[in-house]
Amino acid sequence: MAFDPELATQAYMATLKGAARAKSDAYFEGGYWLILWNFLAALAANLIVLRLGWAARLSRWARGRAGPTLAALIFAVPYLLLVTLLTSPLAIYAEFFREHAYGLSNQGFAEWGGEQLMIIAINSAIAALLWMGVHGVIRRWPTNWWVGGTALTIAVMMVTITLAPLYLEPLFNRYTPLPDGPVKTAVLKLARANGVPASNVYLVDASRQSDRISANVAGLFGTTRIALNDNLLKQDINEIRAVMAHELGHYVLNHVWKFLLSLALLIAVVFALVAKGTPWLLTRFGQRWEIEGMTDPGVLPALMIMLSAVFFVATPITNSLIRTQEQEADMFGMNAARAPDSFARIAMKLSQYRKIEPSPLEEMVFFDHPSGHTRVFTAMRWKAEHLGEPDIR
Ligand SMILES: [Zn+2]
Repeated sequence: MAFDPELATQAYMATLKGAARAKSDAYFEGGYWLILWNFLAALAANLIVLRLGWAARLSRWARGRAGPTLAALIFAVPYLLLVTLLTSPLAIYAEFFREHAYGLSNQGFAEWGGEQLMIIAINSAIAALLWMGVHGVIRRWPTNWWVGGTALTIAVMMVTITLAPLYLEPLFNRYTPLPDGPVKTAVLKLARANGVPASNVYLVDASRQSDRISANVAGLFGTTRIALNDNLLKQDINEIRAVMAHELGHYVLNHVWKFLLSLALLIAVVFALVAKGTPWLLTRFGQRWEIEGMTDPGVLPALMIMLSAVFFVATPITNSLIRTQEQEADMFGMNAARAPDSFARIAMKLSQYRKIEPSPLEEMVFFDHPSGHTRVFTAMRWKAEHLGEPDIR
């Protein structure tokens, strides 16, 4: 009887059932609601900061202390910390208690909290510097600031991505060269065969944080590197090959650059909407909030309300941008590793924290990676069309 990819996919799907499937569905579907709760929390926090006059007071304080450029910076730092504090109950529930409730975290509260404080410090510093720049652009071009604002945002992102492997990621995990052995031989063989320098492949101790199987590509220009995590290293060698071939796909297909380009287009549209929407918000509420216009550094919370609203609505677009690249990397990886069943087994293991069989619309709106079903079917179709070829594992 001929190999039927549809039946083969169903056979894989049937291995995740009962309580285990209900649990991973519940975990992932809860994430849909978190998108809404996070948006509402950001909205509420910014409205509190504006309505209680904190933004206005903070802005007057900053402007009394420095010129317009520096005033934007010293307004942004306490403002960002204030919003972080106001939204922290939801963040602590979502990122700590919820992860533990589903058995997806290996960290105690103190260790996790310490990491979060570092992340908050880094993010706030980057965001405050970006606001200083964007605010300068707004002062110079009050209506068309979204053009320069987009360019500046992408530039800051590029610098951050470039420096992350050198200065940010080592703050949280240890990156070491792959240990000698059959895995290293197999991974480097795959890397070289696809034009990726072997010196760019690392091992990361992600089991400190969780048991999630993962690998990633990070960096830009000379700092690009691929890291597989120690949870992945414990898997079967062909499963490791299948995952690493996917990561090599991101690298070879220049996904970081393509993503930055599409993100630039998206941010330009988003900023253009925000540039129209924020003055409208100010004409209605500016007096009550005591915000003196777009050139007041205290306009940032109003801008953030518009920004989070537009990005909330754009969730399916951002997810689809990422998911499309992930699908491309899956295809590349399939052709490079030629291990469809190993890839399917990995897709099943990842379904511990990703709903396995969503509806097509659900996948389009909420998934930033292909679902387990999509991935297994991709593998089984590839297998059906390459049956009998000698080097398939
Ligand atoms: Zn990927």
